[in-house]
Amino acid sequence: MQGPSFATADDGFSPRHPRAQPRLFDALPGLAAEVPWRPLAHLPTPVEPLSGRFAFLGPGQVAIKRDDLISPRYGGNKVRRYEFVLADILARSKRHIVTAGGLASTQVTATASFAEALGLGLTAVLFDQPVTRFAREAVLADVSLGAELVYGGSYLNTALETARALRRVGPQGALILPGAATPRANLGYLDAVFELEAQVRAGHCARPDVVLLPTGSSGTLAALSLGFAFLGWPTEVVGVTIASPWVCNRLTVGRVVRETARWIAARDKRFHPSLAHAARWRLDGVALGRGYGHPSPEAVAGIARVQQITGAPGEVTYSGKALAGLSALLRDPRYQQQNILWWNTLSTPRPALAPDAEARVPRALRWVLAAPLVA
Ligand SMILES: *Cc1c(COP(=O)(O)O)cnc(C)c1O
Repeated sequence: MQGPSFATADDGFSPRHPRAQPRLFDALPGLAAEVPWRPLAHLPTPVEPLSGRFAFLGPGQVAIKRDDLISPRYGGNKVRRYEFVLADILARSKRHIVTAGGLASTQVTATASFAEALGLGLTAVLFDQPVTRFAREAVLADVSLGAELVYGGSYLNTALETARALRRVGPQGALILPGAATPRANLGYLDAVFELEAQVRAGHCARPDVVLLPTGSSGTLAALSLGFAFLGWPTEVVGVTIASPWVCNRLTVGRVVRETARWIAARDKRFHPSLAHAARWRLDGVALGRGYGHPSPEAVAGIARVQQITGAPGEVTYSGKALAGLSALLRDPRYQQQNILWWNTLSTPRPALAPDAEARVPRALRWVLAAPLVA
């Protein structure tokens, strides 16, 4: 895939040793024929054993998959999906992305990072969530990366402003919905399953009985559980929910799993849509508190532990809640003999802030810079 003004080799976005194609295309060559792709992630990400290194993990068999290190600039779990999403946008000759997300949205920041690297414009409409330090820094990072921010506020007004931004941009515009969890995007974590399988084969970690990660739009969980089903692994994926049960529940996740399976099966017969029934996953609401971005006590307690393990600060929306979910799992007798893999989705590197970042924040969002921080 050739896009205009693709970033140079030492910018931290382009992998130093880019893969010729994703592992997924070896397993499912029908996808290779049809699906645009370009390398953005630095892969494979390491898997590291944590057992015995942290008292709070107890005697459990725990390892970490470090997708926090997927890009030296910024990334986390959005990078793998953007290898497919942004390649598709470039293949359709679009020049300007419109997206929406919460004030602290990692998806908006990741979009800003990679849009800048690929020479694409970005307008992001932001909806309200509790103002944490992480949220404030996300807004400053977004404008530092050249994103045009629009304040949406409520969900309804965010939808209206997003539609308005798309109209304004015209035919050059490409919409990425909050979470960016389309079947195409989910190919990124299907690919990750083949990466993990190679790491298990090479003896870097045991085959996990359980993979635990924070779940919002559920694209990551859906793709991982489908991938394990494709390999015939009995691995269960536990999604620690970070979004309200209205948007993240058994029905919505089941739909994402089935749609993704059907989309892939339509392009490669080796993948059967019935794998959606074989996929093993469940949701755990242990840390959600009052909802998306809410600093539940469990999530706040998780922040420090994220820092102890990864060396970088956690936050309440994603990693703090994931760690709370991990702690709960380790207390559950059913899991004490199992190999648990915490798939860490939050980027460790944070984007550099421009010296004039505060001045770049639009007037309607300035209150975020002054609001009292809830965590
Ligand atoms: C987006 C995101 C998630 C949620 O992933 P989904 O695939 O949308 O469920 C989890 N953790 C982090 C750090 C994220 O940025």
